[in-house]
Formats: sequence, C-alpha cells, structure tokens
Amino acid sequence: MSSKGTILKVAGPLVIAEGMRDANMFDVVRVADSRLIGEIIEMHGDKASVQVYEETSGLGPGAPVESTGMPMSVELGPGLIRSIYDGIQRPLDVIKAKSGQRLERGVEVPSLSRDTRWHFEPVMQAGDKVEGGDIIGTVQETDIVAHKIMVPPGVAGTLKSITGGDYTVEETVAVVETDKGEVPVALMQRWPVRRGRPYKQKLSPDVPLVTGQRVIDTLFPLAKGGTAAVPGPFGSGKTVVQHQLAKWADADIVVYIGCGERGNEMTDVLLEFPELKDPKTGKSLMERTVLIANTSDMPVAAREASVYTGITIAEYFRDMGYSVALMADSTSRWAEAMREMSGRLEEMPGEEGYPAYLGSRLAQFYERAGRVTTLGSTPREGALSVIGAVSPSGGDISEPVTQATLRIVKVFWSLDAQLAYARHFPAINWLTSYSLYLDDVGAWFDANVKRDWMAKRARMMLLLQEESELEEIVQLVGMDALSPPDRLKLEAARSIREDFLHQDAFHDVDTFTPLEKQYTMLNLVLDYYDAAQKALDKGISINDLVNLPVREAIGRIKYVPIEEIPQEYENITRQLASEIDDLAKKLEEEDA
Ligand code: ADP
Repeated sequence: MSSKGTILKVAGPLVIAEGMRDANMFDVVRVADSRLIGEIIEMHGDKASVQVYEETSGLGPGAPVESTGMPMSVELGPGLIRSIYDGIQRPLDVIKAKSGQRLERGVEVPSLSRDTRWHFEPVMQAGDKVEGGDIIGTVQETDIVAHKIMVPPGVAGTLKSITGGDYTVEETVAVVETDKGEVPVALMQRWPVRRGRPYKQKLSPDVPLVTGQRVIDTLFPLAKGGTAAVPGPFGSGKTVVQHQLAKWADADIVVYIGCGERGNEMTDVLLEFPELKDPKTGKSLMERTVLIANTSDMPVAAREASVYTGITIAEYFRDMGYSVALMADSTSRWAEAMREMSGRLEEMPGEEGYPAYLGSRLAQFYERAGRVTTLGSTPREGALSVIGAVSPSGGDISEPVTQATLRIVKVFWSLDAQLAYARHFPAINWLTSYSLYLDDVGAWFDANVKRDWMAKRARMMLLLQEESELEEIVQLVGMDALSPPDRLKLEAARSIREDFLHQDAFHDVDTFTPLEKQYTMLNLVLDYYDAAQKALDKGISINDLVNLPVREAIGRIKYVPIEEIPQEYENITRQLASEIDDLAKKLEEEDA
C-alpha cells in the first residue's frame, strides 16, 4: 500500500519523513517534487528513515515523501548483457542521453528497453506442465549468451499457450493456467534485490573455478560457487587480476560491480571492458558481461543498492544453469557508506565507527554465492562465484572491513605491494594467502587432472615455506653457511617462484595456462629438484647443479603452447638426465 508523508529533516543521504505510518521497511519511496529515489531503512511510529540514492542538496522540511509500497526490485530479462547500470539499475547511457553529463535527479528510465524486440524460441508447448524455474524458451541475447526464459518462482500449472516470435520484454509470450487463474509470462520478470532468489539445493563447492592463473589454480583455488577476497593496495596488480579473471575464469557470465571507486578508475573499467576480448570466442567481453557502475562521485547510499542489484542479476543467470562470476570492487567503499548511514541514524558505533551489523551485512551478501541445483522440474546446476575486492587503507589488513570479510570468505588472495615492487606478478603472496576449498576441490584435481596433483602441490608449498625459513638464516649468517641440500632447496623454491608462480598477463601464451600444462610445469620443477638431490648425494657439486643449462629450458616452458608441451616435456626430461649423467661421469673421472 502506498503512503504519503512529508520531510521532517534532511541529513546528507538520510531523509527523515513523518506521516508514514502505513509504509513498510525497505519500501521504495519517492522524495520531494523531483521524485528522488530512496528506500526506507528504519521505521519508528509514523517516522521513516529513508536512504536516498540520489543527491539530496536543496531538499528541505515539508516536501512530500511518497512510498510506492514496493520493495526495491530489479528487472530481469533480455537486454541485461552489455548493459552498464548505475546502483539502482538505471542504464547509464540512457540517463546520460536524457539528462546530459551531469546526471539529473529523479530521472525515471526503465532498466530494460521497452522498445527492443527479441526473438523468442519456445522449447515447450501448450499442454506441458510447468513450475517455477522451468525454461520455456530462449532468446539469443548476444552472440555468446542464450538467455533462458524461465517461469517465475512460485508459478506452477499447465501451459495454456506459448508462441514464438519477436516480442518486447513486457509482452506476453506464454500463459500458465494455475489453481489461482491464468498467469501471463513475459520475457521480463522482477525480483526484490534484498531477497536471494530461490533454488532447490545448495551443492558442496567441490569443483574448481578454473582460471588458468597458476598461482590461483594450483595454490589457492576458488571453487565454483565459492567466495574470495582480494585486497588491492595501489599498484599491486588488482586491476590486472580482475581482468584476468573476467577473461579467463570458466564463467559464462560476468557481473562487475564498480562500487565507490574513484570516478576515473571506474571509467577505466567502462572503457577497457568493451575493448577486452573474450579469448574463447574472440568477441568483446561485454557480450557476456553486465556492469554496475557506482563511482565515488555518485551518492554513497547507492553503493549498497549497487551491491544488491548486482548480486540479484547474477543469481538470475545462475538460475538459467550458468556459471556466473561476480566481482565487487570495492566492498570497503560499501562498508564506508554503511558507516556513514549508521552515523547519521545515530546508531551505536562498533569498531572504528562501523556499525555493529557490518559483519552480518557482508555475510548476507557473500552467502548468496553458491553452486546450486536450480528450481524447475528438470533442474540444472548453476554456480555463482563471488570475488570481493577490499581496500584496507595503507594495506593494513587488521582493519574491521578486511577482518570481517576474512571471517566470511573461503579464499584470500593476498596482493602484496612488495612483490609488485619487485615486479613479481601476479603479486599474490604465497605465504599469507589461503584457500579453504583445497580439500574439497583437491579430489577433483586428483581425479580430473592427475592422481598426484595434490601431493605435488603440497611438496611445492612446503618448499616455499622452507625457503622463507632458510632466508631468515641467510640474512643472519650468509649464504655460504648453508649446507648444499639447503642451498638446493632455495634453488628449487626460486624456480617455483620464477618459473611457475610468476605469470605474464600480457604474453600471448603465458596469460592462460591449462591445468594439464600447470601440472607439467609443476612436475618439471620437482623433477629437477629430485634429480639434483640424488646427484648431491653422489657428491656432485651444488654449483654445477645450480648452473645446469636445462634450468633455462624449464624456465621457458611457460611460453610454449599447449600442443607442444608433451614433446617439450620429453625433451627437457631427457636433457636433465643427460646433463646429470655428464656431471656424474666427470666426477668419476676426477676421482679415478
Ligand atoms: P592496481 O589496479 O592494483 O593499482 P594494476 O592492476 O593496474 O594495479 O597493475 C599495475 C601494473 O602492474 C600494470 O600496469 C602492469 O604493468 C603490472 N602487472 C600487474 N599484474 C601483472 C601481470 N600478471 N603480468 C604482468 N604485469 C602485471
């Protein structure tokens, strides 16, 4: 039910309205004559606290406030892909065209075009039984995305009619005869953003989201439907990591939420994404991307809206049976917006002024990730993986937002300014990062790539840890004090870092490494280590082993295309054996 009141007080993005007794929490309201869009976030008697998603300057007491009686919802249907929306799902290009560069306030534009006609191909026919989630047909939305038209959740019955052809998003394409009467189905449906879209069952996250990025896949894998956080100190390669994931992760759909980042950084994304090519199809990455842009020059309250809008759109594509990757950059800016609103509501502040519910709000967001069995009589599997960037000021990860995030997410890719400074990219610190999916997806790697994938990974991780301990010793007493086996360990660890972990995003071949190749590369480094250890035991000198020419070939294999890998692996293995043989012979001759 709608309800009309008046403004009592304005404090930045917060408006207190009185006379709102009939309104409900989370109703969308229109504020003042310019009809600014806001949402009720607190009710006390007839007073409603409204967070306004547009600039509130010039508003004053007495102006009208009208509740629409509806929760904030998004429009879901063909036309989402390739769109660039603001936090409340207004297409940026359309509002710009309507109101010029400086966004005018209160502009009302539909999220999905009402004029575009989409070609609908039914996959069901009249007389078929349907329930919520069932796919009744498809629209080829872009060259690479087939948009599945689904029966909205909660609707069940018999298809009375369904007709293929060209339709706008509002026109009826099918009618379902239900217990409660006929329900028309259009290409578009609506969903309230604060409510997760329903599914049948959550599945355990035991399939990796393969990214082709070696440090991620091998050391700190993300599961399909999993959650990850990545902190982004300036210049640490956060943008490159995000682009690499958007390009290479095996996701059908990418939803990118730019939340409160500086205006020009977001503009970079807006300019760059259309330029980026989807490697699998050669088309623009936008052909499978939805962008939500809520830059720092837009009102802070809309940051929260952008996060909910983005995740609801992502869930909708998950429901079609797709693998969806959502990136939110940065969740810290959203948390700052919460802090500001909470301050204005005069709530009891928690740590560093953030509201006490910071952690639970973040958790509610990340909980919407998951690999699920969808609704529908022939259920599909869909996955929504969520990657949140956090931007702790000064890189101090002990601050509340990072800490709250780390308690929720299962993967932490710790971008490290020092590694970036040393030009080790991706600058994901192997000692401080982690993945709690390791056990779950490990079985998948062992079963689908190689039986000893996890065993090899463990050996590699151990060498890296030993390296850091040995380095402390070297700092104290110098390299010469190390035993030959320890020196060899350092060499093996260096090879892991330089030949395996280091990956050039801008090299045609190196930018993406299939899992089979990751395994081969991992093997080569360990093969060298094992062979050299045996050689040390026989008395061969550590210097000779460090300087083996084969090491260069091992270092170059990252640039070798996948087709040539088996042959190259054989060549290198042979070269390694023969070079060590030669050293052994030389040693025998010297002894003789
Ligand atoms: P941030 O977004 O964290 O400020 P960027 O992602 O823009 O940092 O990275 C800064 C620079 O680091 C890039 O311009 C690029 O030269 C280099 N870089 C980052 N990641 C890689 C990578 N994987 N391969 C090669 N160069 C990289």
